[in-house]
Amino acid sequence: MKSAMQNIRHLELEDLESWVVTQGDKKFRARQVYDWIWLKQARGFEEMTNLSKEFRLSLARDFVLTALTTDMTQHSDDGTVKSRFKTHDGHLVEGVLIPTDKRNTACVSSQIGCSLSCKFCATGYIDRKRNLEYDEIYDEVALLNEQSEQKYGKKLSNIVFMGMGEPLLNYRNVLKAIDKITSPDGMGMSPRRITVSTAGVAKQIRALGDAKVKFKLALSLHAATDAKRHEIMPINDSNNIKSLIDALNYFYKQTKNEITFEYILFNEFNDSLQDADELIRIYRQVPADLVNIIEYNPISFARFTKPSEEKVDAFMAYLEKHKVNARLRRSRGKDIDAACGQLANKG
Ligand code: SF4
Repeated sequence: MKSAMQNIRHLELEDLESWVVTQGDKKFRARQVYDWIWLKQARGFEEMTNLSKEFRLSLARDFVLTALTTDMTQHSDDGTVKSRFKTHDGHLVEGVLIPTDKRNTACVSSQIGCSLSCKFCATGYIDRKRNLEYDEIYDEVALLNEQSEQKYGKKLSNIVFMGMGEPLLNYRNVLKAIDKITSPDGMGMSPRRITVSTAGVAKQIRALGDAKVKFKLALSLHAATDAKRHEIMPINDSNNIKSLIDALNYFYKQTKNEITFEYILFNEFNDSLQDADELIRIYRQVPADLVNIIEYNPISFARFTKPSEEKVDAFMAYLEKHKVNARLRRSRGKDIDAACGQLANKG
């Protein structure tokens, strides 16, 4: 049965070389296959036209080449494109292409659903089905890159892991996907243009430091005291703010990579000047480059609303007065539920 066969993209080059030799063929064929499955992003063995038909049949006899497919796309008035991708076993995940003058950013998912149940996030209301495999994450980026080239005539410039799922709870696959995305054997993107955003898994943040990764890290803080954070992000029970501050400092010591805080403003919850003070207190304890203050996009089943413009302005002005490098992020793609926290496979 095909589904029990090995996914060819789960083989390293050396494994492929061994297989090629057992077929009585020359080792360099393995490199040709490897280029097809990563560099040229072939989605079927029949596309590998510089290999003989016989060789392609042998590949198809021993392996499967599963690929993510685009199930649906929606286009926002502001140019944002949300795509729903289908996995080989019928699961759906979403990815978003966000174009601006200077950059085309892909927001990608790392899991099918999410187990962390953040109260403001649509994905948090969908059960986690499974992790995405690294080749599936790679496909998301490749498909969004294709869209970027077709619609905007330029390649992706940035990737953020801010879609569905908690990347650090799918640590191995996310790192391996990034490895392929940044490798000259794959898409050859700079790791400095990749940001992994976490709800805060202290142990894995430290592991990233130990792995000396080259990409940037964003922490979804969203509330600056444990009591408040606990209310909206249950993960704070096992990973409190102090443990995250320590982990971020460790990450920075090991990598010197850029750290960003993400802070969604919720009306009457975390938008007072006292909240701003608490946020500043945390900012001062971490070598963070930036605080992104994010406009909240209400979802029907959460209790939060967005603050008034005046309150947002006052919050931003207060941060500025205290020399916090903060930027206000207006969400994109709201009309198609593609904005931050809105991904829920709704279509
Ligand atoms: S915000 Fe991220 S971690 Fe939290 S529920 Fe949503 S997808 Fe999961």
